[in-house]
Amino acid sequence: MAQYTQICSECGATGIVNYCQHLIGGELLWSGQSTCESCGANIEFDDRGDLPEELKPAILAEEGEWQLVLDDRNDLVPALRVIRERLQVSLQESKAILNDLRGTKTTLAWIQDGLRQVNLSSTLVSCSRAGNIGEMGQGQ
Ligand SMILES: [Zn+2]
Repeated sequence: MAQYTQICSECGATGIVNYCQHLIGGELLWSGQSTCESCGANIEFDDRGDLPEELKPAILAEEGEWQLVLDDRNDLVPALRVIRERLQVSLQESKAILNDLRGTKTTLAWIQDGLRQVNLSSTLVSCSRAGNIGEMGQGQ
């Protein structure tokens, strides 16, 4: 499970928050959990929507990076609409994103779910398996 550190609001000690993404009933969520080793305070939270950008690298390091590829490239207009809606980007940005749509598997599965709702089929491809992540990785 991916982790980040934060300061305990009860005692000020540095603690580790474990977090992960979920796709439940077509809705993208992420949740975190932390137990302070110093004072025992327990924090649990859930948040809707995509994972904050700064928390993605740890998930990518764990699950690898994935790419969403449309099965039919002739049907771009509804696909662009789904991307704009889900990622809150402009039309211009959505075009660039669709050309190279990469991210965590859960985020992409959520976009794939949106595409399915407009009858577009797509495939998730593991970038690491394709062997093209290589030198561009974070050098973990
Ligand atoms: Zn504490």
